[in-house]
Amino acid sequence: MTDTFEAKGKRKKLVEELRKKGISDEEVLRAMDTVPRHQFMDPAFLNHAYLDKAFPLSSGQTISQPFTVAFQTSLLEVKKRDKILEVGTGSGYQAAVLAEMGAKVYTIERFRELFIKAQQTLVSLGYSIDFFYGDGYEGKPQYGPFDGILITAAAPEIPEKLLQQLKIGGRMVVPVGAQGSQVMTVIERAGEELFDYSTHGNFTFVPMLKGTVNGK
Ligand code: SAH
Repeated sequence: MTDTFEAKGKRKKLVEELRKKGISDEEVLRAMDTVPRHQFMDPAFLNHAYLDKAFPLSSGQTISQPFTVAFQTSLLEVKKRDKILEVGTGSGYQAAVLAEMGAKVYTIERFRELFIKAQQTLVSLGYSIDFFYGDGYEGKPQYGPFDGILITAAAPEIPEKLLQQLKIGGRMVVPVGAQGSQVMTVIERAGEELFDYSTHGNFTFVPMLKGTVNGK
């Protein structure tokens, strides 16, 4: 499915809604105005793609609510050419938003089926992103350290190995907590062993699980 006049119009409205809900990072808003979210969902759901709602993907996972994508991306404070690691590729939408902002994106997914589908979508849209099928708890130390690490699944606790893959001055955005409700947490690496924490409200994500799933 291609981008259409209709989809563009719906996207503009969504961006205005995000602005009203308090998103003020113009680069985030511009990226979300550009990335065709409907192409990351089943083509039958154009009417759902530009509502501010989460939506089911295959494998029992979800594409995050646009507000959540905008909020997490704003907290990450992405600058052009930043190296960003995303855990939880899902549909690939969040990765596209980061790439649209000029970041160098590395993204990991534990479901083989989603990993393949997201890769196809992002390549067909012309994004140049590094995809990995694997367990995000391990991170990608060989490509680090990263300016930012964005976790888009609920982590029962802050993943220690990932903290070690942050640059000094880099930040991790991660929803921390048990299933049902998590606290959006930002961790800034202020020094080799110095981490500053701040919290930013409650959200609900699908869980961050260990290991990989090779099949449906
Ligand atoms: N960022 C996605 C939405 C993510 S939903 C988007 O824009 O569409 C959360 C995703 O995290 C799911 O696809 C889930 O399979 C994945 N996930 C959960 N635990 C993981 C782990 N340990 N490593 C990699 N991916 C993980």
